[in-house]
Amino acid sequence: MTAAPPALLERYRRLLAQPREPFPITLGEGSTPLIRTRRLGAEIGLEELYLKYEGTNPTGSFKDRGMVLAVNRAASSGARAVVCASTGNTAASAAAYAAAAGLPCFVVLPAGKVARGKLAQALVAGARLVMVDGNFDEALAAVRRLGDEGVAAVVNSVNPDRLDGQQTAAWEVCDALGRPPDALALPVGNAGNITAYWRGFTRYAGEGLIESRPRMLGFQADGAAPIVRGEPVAEPETIATAIRIGNPASWAGATAARDDSGGSIESVSDDEILAAQRDVAHLEGIFCEPASAAGVAGVRKLASGGRLHRSETVVCVLTGHGLKDPDAVQAEEGSLAAVAPEVDAIRSAMGI
Ligand SMILES: *Cc1c(COP(=O)(O)O)cnc(C)c1O
Repeated sequence: MTAAPPALLERYRRLLAQPREPFPITLGEGSTPLIRTRRLGAEIGLEELYLKYEGTNPTGSFKDRGMVLAVNRAASSGARAVVCASTGNTAASAAAYAAAAGLPCFVVLPAGKVARGKLAQALVAGARLVMVDGNFDEALAAVRRLGDEGVAAVVNSVNPDRLDGQQTAAWEVCDALGRPPDALALPVGNAGNITAYWRGFTRYAGEGLIESRPRMLGFQADGAAPIVRGEPVAEPETIATAIRIGNPASWAGATAARDDSGGSIESVSDDEILAAQRDVAHLEGIFCEPASAAGVAGVRKLASGGRLHRSETVVCVLTGHGLKDPDAVQAEEGSLAAVAPEVDAIRSAMGI
């Protein structure tokens, strides 16, 4: 029998912790698979395309990497409660870690724009949900005010512990490959993750653990692309609700990551996102949520435009699990009609 890998914060304690800092709360976050694609890479025209599948985190998204650090520190510093604004996954993660810590959790969400699975996760863990008749950006502004008033510890990515913890994903990618990739692609919403990955690669380079850093390739949805346009979007709209954000908190971090790495931040359409989500599932058997597929959609676009060379090592981060948002899957409803439970009828329904 092999022992479970040590908890994420213990594994990277040297890079993250204060001396003798305790991390009693863990749900088994991190150590997510880096999967070398066989069919998807061939289809896109890349010989070495990897998927960093963050859907295997305890609450099904990469948010757990930073939340575990933020909630450990909130608990050890005597916070009475935690609070966050969320498009869904931050709420699911905060609710779970707060439950484990025995802290009340408040989440502020844009009404009608949160995927069903994410709501269920926050509810079952006992978080108190407040729906606002507004978007994520407005919810975050209010939550920051509540934090300033000392009502509760804010565990959005404006909390530096969140981005510190999220660096671990960059370290895992390098550890798994034995080197950094040439390029790393991911969706950009509030822009914390692209900021954290770049910081992580830069830290590893500073420690002498890698010799180069990848180009950072960020992708927003066409209807929620403030960084691409160079100005906030007042009413962001996309089927990829996790990146439905019009005024990213880590805007400056994202543009620095883009410019310092020689990368780019571009946008993709909802149709391209849904096609990429389907292809990741059809060709590799991995179910990610729509936002997660934005990086794959973007890589396809760059590769077909000759802006990624086929021999480059490319990693796409699949940020969250598809089961969180089953409603977004474009199903072929017709094939679900029932037939008689008889071999002939079933054979004919199978089309054989
Ligand atoms: C939070 C989230 C994003 C966006 O990450 P940012 O750090 O806000 O840019 C993308 N995909 C999923 C699944 C998320 O939960």
